[in-house]
Amino acid sequence: MVRLFQRFYNENPVTEEALEVILYNNIFRKHLRFLRESQKWKKIHLEEYQQKQLSRLLNHSYRNVPYYKNLFDKFNIEPNEINSIKDLKKIPFLTKQIVKENVEEIKAANYPLRKFKYTTTGGSTGFPLGFFVEKGVAKAKNMAFYQSLLDNAGCFLTEKHAYFIGYNNIYRYQFFRRIMVLSSFFITDDNLPIYINKLRKFKPKFIMGFTSAITNLARYMDKNSIDFFPSIKTVVCAGETLFDWQRDILERTFQCRVHALYDHFEQAVFGTTCEYSNYYHLYPQYGITELVHEDGTPVVNEDEEGEIVATGFNNFIFPFIRYKTGDIGILTHKKCKCGRDYLLLKSIEGRKQEIIVSKEKRYISLTGFYGLIAKFSKNVKDCQIAQEKEGEILLFIVKEKDYTKKDEDLIIKNFKDRFKGEIDIVIQYVDNIPRTAGGKFKFLIQKLSVEY
Ligand SMILES: [Zn+2]
Repeated sequence: MVRLFQRFYNENPVTEEALEVILYNNIFRKHLRFLRESQKWKKIHLEEYQQKQLSRLLNHSYRNVPYYKNLFDKFNIEPNEINSIKDLKKIPFLTKQIVKENVEEIKAANYPLRKFKYTTTGGSTGFPLGFFVEKGVAKAKNMAFYQSLLDNAGCFLTEKHAYFIGYNNIYRYQFFRRIMVLSSFFITDDNLPIYINKLRKFKPKFIMGFTSAITNLARYMDKNSIDFFPSIKTVVCAGETLFDWQRDILERTFQCRVHALYDHFEQAVFGTTCEYSNYYHLYPQYGITELVHEDGTPVVNEDEEGEIVATGFNNFIFPFIRYKTGDIGILTHKKCKCGRDYLLLKSIEGRKQEIIVSKEKRYISLTGFYGLIAKFSKNVKDCQIAQEKEGEILLFIVKEKDYTKKDEDLIIKNFKDRFKGEIDIVIQYVDNIPRTAGGKFKFLIQKLSVEY
């Protein structure tokens, strides 16, 4: 789950950002008004809106995007005949591999060159995927979606806030010192007092950023009985899966509601928790989100899991239509108290790519394993798995100071119970787990080629 906001906060020098904000303020405000209104719409009304957007997107893609022109011709798809979301399944999936091989063909021909901004997913999805987003307008719309999430916590983007993302200094200020960027690269026991001191002085209204970075801060505060920050009204976790045990420690330490945000640089899907529940609410105004089984059929039953497939309405310059995200979600039909008639997911469970290979070449998903280690051993500060040969994994562990042989035995037992002899475990103790180039935590380093 690579996120958009990091790019926004990483790449905009203060002046350019300020100018853009002024320039696109109208788009932001208009879109936010629309989101605040449409979140009360009934499903039928939302679907009408989606159909209209879908029709615009498909007609545009057929006229202006060579890849889709060829694809629709090949499969005899007439954009005007796709009048409902159900008809959408006539269109074949767009995979990361297809994007990689067709980057030039997916660019919309009717946009001027200056509107194209090249971006990549940063490689946490197996290989870095390069594609284009539209400069300016799309960003303004995206900010409206972020504000819509913050509405749920009574916060505003214009208020002082702190971001935990990958950055080469421990901290810096942005946007007339309204935003403090804190780096996920340097979160160690030695540095954490600096982070805490900065936050204490800065008094942010909310913090947002990579789940593991904020969790490490919370664990340190918890362990050392450090007071919470009274100014912080909410914590928004993004960029990495938020596990229940992490939410527990974050809510206990920060004494506020913890929200989860799910989005991508590809700008095709956007989901958040709401005022009342921890379900992911997938915004129908952002695009069409489907959940599919491995054979491509839709997931329909309660508690069933499937891959998230996204069609985005906000990036006409490089359309993602039925894009297989590689993220796994669990469906629920339960209604949420907030009343939003959106697709709800109980959780978003890691990535499909987190697969290890057994002695018999069987693929085993690591979904839930990070939680398993961290939850059952509070003395594990950080951990990571690497696989270099079939049937064996290396488990790197950074110990807390109370870590004993008992913790090691418990971890080995948990793994053995799950793997039933199919995988051998070798534990190695290390001083720290390096983050990716983007500053994110990566649970599995898979050196074998795993194909689906
Ligand atoms: Zn809700």
